[in-house]
Amino acid sequence: MKRIVCAALAVLLAVFACAALAQMPRKVVYLTFDDGPKADTPELLEILKRENVPATFFFVGQKVRTFPQEARMVYDAGYAIGCHSVYHSVSSLKTHNDTVSRDYIGFLKIMREYVDPAFETDLYRFPGGSTGYKPKMRDAIVEAGCAWFDWNAQTSDTDGSKNAKELYEKAVKTTGDQEVVILLAHEGIKRTRWMLPDLIAFYRENGYEFRALSTRAEDREIYERCSARMKLPPMADEQEESL
Ligand SMILES: [Zn+2]
Repeated sequence: MKRIVCAALAVLLAVFACAALAQMPRKVVYLTFDDGPKADTPELLEILKRENVPATFFFVGQKVRTFPQEARMVYDAGYAIGCHSVYHSVSSLKTHNDTVSRDYIGFLKIMREYVDPAFETDLYRFPGGSTGYKPKMRDAIVEAGCAWFDWNAQTSDTDGSKNAKELYEKAVKTTGDQEVVILLAHEGIKRTRWMLPDLIAFYRENGYEFRALSTRAEDREIYERCSARMKLPPMADEQEESL
């Protein structure tokens, strides 16, 4: 009898432990790489494939024209691709309130011409980050059907004075104890690639799940715990309901 009670207690404890684990909020990291594609994009892809992690690439249309093969490699490998404008010219994007959304249409045209006629994306990142743009410009891109994302952790890899170790340390420091992280990194930087396997190991060891940015319901729920600035259009079915 005593044994049965003990066994029952053990089962109950296990059930409670599982329930507690299931209640624990997921830790998630979204790796994002801006300003590509570039000539060395295949080297970055090799690392991501070897590490078996998803990532999001914010492409510049002009670079897609220059490196169409590299753009297709990213696309064919199934990574998420978002729009990071056609020319990455912050000043010309600010000319009118609707310049950013018209520029996004131009980006789609380039992707459809050089990568896949059926290319679609509803992911957007403002060149230089969203804070430099007027609220009307930020809203216009959402009205065009795009979700825009800034970041809440960064490598500072465009700072040429920082070595690979310093980029790693910057990413770890800006990640801090955040449970949902959107990490900003850039393409075409060797120092970023050198430290990337170590950074991926850091997130793994700290219980993070790797995901690609999306506007799906599962990610929307995760973003609720994310401190990065962003704005998403309503879910397609929510739009239908409100009609
Ligand atoms: Zn950029």
